[in-house]
Amino acid sequence: KQRGRANWIRYADGMERPAQAHAQLAGDLRRALDAGEFRLHYQPIVNLGDGRIVGVEALVRWEHPTRGMVSPAEFIPAAERTGLIVPLGRWVLREACRQGAAWLAEFGPDALEKVAPNVSVRQLHDPGFVADVAAALAGHGLPADRLVLELTESAVLRGQHVLRVLHELHDSGVRLALDDFGTGESSLSLLRAFPAAIVKLDKSFVDGVELDEPGTPAADARQAVARAVAQLAGALGLETVAEGIENQEQADRLLRLGYTVGQGYHLGRPMPAEQLTALLAARRVKIAA
Ligand code: C2E
Ligand code: MG
Ligand code: MG
Ligand code: MG
Repeated sequence: KQRGRANWIRYADGMERPAQAHAQLAGDLRRALDAGEFRLHYQPIVNLGDGRIVGVEALVRWEHPTRGMVSPAEFIPAAERTGLIVPLGRWVLREACRQGAAWLAEFGPDALEKVAPNVSVRQLHDPGFVADVAAALAGHGLPADRLVLELTESAVLRGQHVLRVLHELHDSGVRLALDDFGTGESSLSLLRAFPAAIVKLDKSFVDGVELDEPGTPAADARQAVARAVAQLAGALGLETVAEGIENQEQADRLLRLGYTVGQGYHLGRPMPAEQLTALLAARRVKIAA
């Protein structure tokens, strides 16, 4: 068992996994969920002009008893394959709603416009999902319009069933964000059908966006994409968030390209709730004016 647990992450994505290892991993994730080993960290979403915190993204972590903090990149794909993402995602949703409502109660309605957990497409296929969202909101008294569900842009979001679920969520007042925008294969056609309120410009277009020495076409291309996405979102009445901002030059450049809101290590790393509470007490993160 020890060996299996240490070994499972070595399988490359999409590789055939022996049935036994698959079952073991499913069991390990299930055990971790029952044992309460998952935590949410929160990353501030910030007004680039004045540093005001406009929201938080909730990011799951696995506090493994022997491996320490495990990143979601390691276990979310496995949770999706094994189906454990459904109960895990339900826990994430409830915990994010609980914490969001607690912050609103402590700091008032102006402290936080939104709390944004990530949702896997797999969860949208669970027949109880819309009811789970409603129950998480009602159970903790979080207004629906304070919840943003982040969905990674992907072709599967275009399925008829998934679109129906997304429209039900939209009709219930919950807002939807297209995460990692620009990395999928279907950005434009998806945007037309998807009831999105927010578009999150992927980090890959933010990396290097501040560079503009002559003869760096890659940086020029990133600026062009960033500007075009901001204009497209504006024309469609969508809000934008620029992801993965790591320095002030990027924040300044993105402001000039049409982004008023961003997220990234420069503005605040994902952190435990108690640390974010301290930031919320100050209302803003420190950025260069
Ligand atoms: P994401 O939703 O696009 O989240 C942003 C990721 O970028 C987070 O990684 C965050 O820590 C990281 N990040 C933020 N700012 C910066 C930056 O300035 N530089 C760099 N290098 N990275 C930055 P994390 O927490 O490891 O999450 C990775 C992905 O795992 C997420 O991408 C999301 O797709 C998925 N994920 C996380 N939590 C959940 C969850 O509760 N449910 C589901 N279904 N997926 C989740
Ligand atoms: Mg996200
Ligand atoms: Mg993202
Ligand atoms: Mg991502």
